[in-house]
This record gives sequence, C-alpha cells and structure tokens, in this order.
Amino acid sequence: MPAPRPRKALDGIPLYRAGKPALTEEHKLSSNENPYAPLPGVMERAAAELGRMNRYPDAGMTALYGALSERLGLSAEHFAAGTGSVAVLFSLLTAHLEAGDEIVYAWRSFEAYPIAVDLTGATTVRVPLRADATHDLDAMADAVTERTKVVLVCTPNNPTGPVVTADELERFLDRVPDHVLVVVDEAYVEFVGDPDAAKGLDALAGHDNVVVLRTFSKAYGLAGLRVGYAIARPEVAESIRKATAPFTVTDVAQAAALASLDAQDALDERVAAIVRERGAMVEALRAQGWDVPRTEANFVWLPLGEHALDFATACDPVSVRPFAGEGVRISVGTPAVNAQLIELAGAWRSARGIS
Ligand SMILES: *Cc1c(COP(=O)(O)O)cnc(C)c1O
Repeated sequence: MPAPRPRKALDGIPLYRAGKPALTEEHKLSSNENPYAPLPGVMERAAAELGRMNRYPDAGMTALYGALSERLGLSAEHFAAGTGSVAVLFSLLTAHLEAGDEIVYAWRSFEAYPIAVDLTGATTVRVPLRADATHDLDAMADAVTERTKVVLVCTPNNPTGPVVTADELERFLDRVPDHVLVVVDEAYVEFVGDPDAAKGLDALAGHDNVVVLRTFSKAYGLAGLRVGYAIARPEVAESIRKATAPFTVTDVAQAAALASLDAQDALDERVAAIVRERGAMVEALRAQGWDVPRTEANFVWLPLGEHALDFATACDPVSVRPFAGEGVRISVGTPAVNAQLIELAGAWRSARGIS
C-alpha cells in the first residue's frame, strides 16, 4: 500500500525524548534552567495579556524589537525573534541551508544542533573540541570549504562551559569567507565574567556575516514561555523572519520578555547569585579531585567518559544530564540542591575508591 512518506532527511533524526521527571522542580539540574521565580513585574505584565487570548499576538513584535533596539543600540531591522533561540536557529538554517551545502560546528556541543541541521538536508562537518573542552577555531576554519554556508560557534559551549575568546573569534572571522554565516550562540552570555570572552555584538559590528543568538530562557528565567532572538545585519535578520511561521511568540511571552528587560537590577542580582554558586560548586568539586573545565555558564561539566551514565544514576535525586561515553552536565541550582549534588559526587568517588 502506498503511504505518505516524510522527507528522507527525517530518517536519521531521533525523536526528542524528555528526561526522567525530577524529584521536585528544584531537584532538576538537567536542563540549565533558572531555579528562581520570575523577575519582579513579569507575572503581572504577562497575566495582563491573558485576558486578550482571543486576539492574535503582535506578529511584528513591535514593542519587543523596539525595546531590544533601544537596549542594544541597533535599529529594529536587526532583530528576528521566535519561540526560543532554538526555533530561531531552525528558521535561520531553513533559510540558508539545503542539500549539498555544508555546515561546520564543534562537537560535543548543543544537542539541538544536529536536529536543526539534519532537517535541512545539509551535510554536517563536526570538529572535535580541544582537550580542555574549548572550541578549536583554527581546525574549524580549516574545515570550511567552498560548500560551507554556515558555522555554529557556541560560547559558552553547552554542555562543556568554556567561552571562545575575543581574539580567537576575531582571527577566525578574518579567515572565514564573507559569504559564510557565522552564528554565535550566546544563550548563556549573561553569566560570562571572563573579560577576554568573545562578544557577539562586537563581532557583528566588524563582520556582516555574523549572527548572534540570545534567549530569555536561561538568565531571564522564561524557558517555559519561549522567547529568543537573533541579532544580525538587516538582510540576514529578514531572511530569518521570512522563514518563521507568523504569530509564534504570544503576547503573554512578549510582555514577559519586556518586563524582564525592565528588571535589569534584579536580573543582575540573580545572575550574580548564580555565578557565586557556580564558583562554589566548581571549587568544591575540584577539592574532591574532579577535573572540571573552566565554565562561564550556569552549568558545570564533568568529563566522566565511560562512567557518565553510572554517575548520573548515582545523582538521580538531583537529576543531572549525562552524555553517554562523554560526560555529565550539571546545572547550577539553589544552594541546598547544589550542596546535595556535591555530596553525591563525593560519595560516588569514595564508593569507587577514588580520592
Ligand atoms: C538553552 C540553549 C538555547 C536556547 O534555548 P531556547 O529555550 O530555545 O531559547 C540555545 N542555545 C544553547 C546552546 C542552549 O543551551
């Protein structure tokens, strides 16, 4: 019987499977979520939009683009928002890649990249991270061919944590041809403290082929409402908006994002608290003997190799994210749950006689 068949590109794409539910929401260190309640004013302004749910949202996202424009000093045409920066990336790749094209990204990096890329039918070129879990931008530049259309640079890198430096990114952009889009994924930019870290906006100021991805999901704590955006030169931003379904970001989500932008002081305090907790977590784990790569995000990486799954099972009470054969990513949570994680990590080492 002939039956409808989806595109061949789907054959290699795994179905997304949600992780095991955590003991409580606070005990979930597996998704890099913000453990704190929404910023002041966010609930009220989002709730005020709920009574208008019979109306379509503002598809032009005028207020959101206006606020971002004012905040970042770039005209509104530089922005393209969507339901999370992952959705924006899907739109961007749909707009710029087709079968026969190549895309280069580091590996291990964000697990959504292969899904977004494979859907386009383009060919993936993965460049291994260096031993210290950083991007090898020289090797990535070497991997660019005349077929390459897009390069993804995740900084800080999910799941390993380190940033790309400004010097490294500049040298890379000087080597990459101007027709190759370089996507700088800054999902965790608010947590970065390293003064040498690359800044996507600086790179964009000097290079027309740069696209910066930002999100309200992590530092701003709006993961459940789905708002992210790209910053790019107007022609590139327009290509992303064209490839995005209309009316995706709800007015509730837009209002929450706007209110979050207005709560800068509270955001700064919250980010500072998470960064402090991150420092304490790294220090405690290193004191136990763990090899923890430098992290500038709201998570830490333990390169456990073949022990990744076993360690994750041992940490079940706080639900961490294992990558089989590679390592475990642990999000920075509340102080109490972080302390629990550190205890479990120490117990795991003792039980195996590692000190
Ligand atoms: C979390 C994350 C995103 C953003 O996800 P959205 O919720 O879709 O905005 C983007 N890139 C990386 C690397 C991430 O870890």
